[in-house]
Amino acid sequence: MTARKTALVTGSTSGIGQGIAEAFAKAGLNVILNGFGDAAAIEAQRAGLERAHGVKARYDGADMSKSAAIEAMIAKADAEFGAVDILVNNAGIQHVAPVDEFPVDKWDAIIAINLSSAFHTTRCALPAMKRKGWGRVINIASAHALVASPFKSAYVSAKHGVLGLVKTLALEGAGQGVVAAAVCPGYVRTPLVENQVAAQAQAHDMPEERVLEEVILAPHAVKQLIEPDEVADVVAFLLGPTGRSFTGSAVTMDQGWSAR
Ligand code: NAD
Repeated sequence: MTARKTALVTGSTSGIGQGIAEAFAKAGLNVILNGFGDAAAIEAQRAGLERAHGVKARYDGADMSKSAAIEAMIAKADAEFGAVDILVNNAGIQHVAPVDEFPVDKWDAIIAINLSSAFHTTRCALPAMKRKGWGRVINIASAHALVASPFKSAYVSAKHGVLGLVKTLALEGAGQGVVAAAVCPGYVRTPLVENQVAAQAQAHDMPEERVLEEVILAPHAVKQLIEPDEVADVVAFLLGPTGRSFTGSAVTMDQGWSAR
């Protein structure tokens, strides 16, 4: 029997990461969950994956803004599973403010969590991938890896950086079985976006459907949210046999946003 591969999905206690972790377990991968949240809810998620799919599911609460915690998480994964075969860098946060008013601590946190964490997970996971001659690194970037929006300087900078990291890794991993790609979604239906819709609806005294269409989805050509499952499908495709040819690519799924 072929040994199961092991996947680490950072920020998988919510939204897109949770959808990817679920799809991975369903596909028979061992999964390492990571992220913050209610301890009982996370344990229910973890145990549910094991029960439903017969895989090993572990949880590591490493803070993605702390390099030492990331090193410890990967070392633990290597010790238990032999390697993190598939690494999905997904954890992310957002803060919105004009550049000249952008709080320095928010800038530092966004760069640490949305960009530097992907460097630390990758540098720690790579040696085992190279030893096995097989590894996949998928970074959940954003349409904001390709285009900017006002007031999102830290997020846009971090996401452009994440794409640069993928390109560099694709070159370094070529010939060693390591494939790296970035997925660049437009707006996805997650708690993050749903909370923004509710807050803006209240602030502008507008119905939520109007806020979604006219405010949140303004840059989308198609005024629809992307579903987390659709992002998970694209990640699964990139992990499949054809995915190897996508190394170094930005795979855009943004409802026409960056076509403008
Ligand atoms: P979310 O808020 O639902 O989930 C974010 C996850 O990251 C959570 O599990 C959270 O606990 C975790 N996290 C946050 N800070 C962390 C830290 N310091 N250490 C460890 N984990 C931490 O968000 P989401 O919408 O699912 O976003 C996931 C990723 O997808 C992010 O990188 C985001 O930038 C990207 N993305 C989201 C959208 C969207 O519209 N939702 C669009 C494009 C890209």
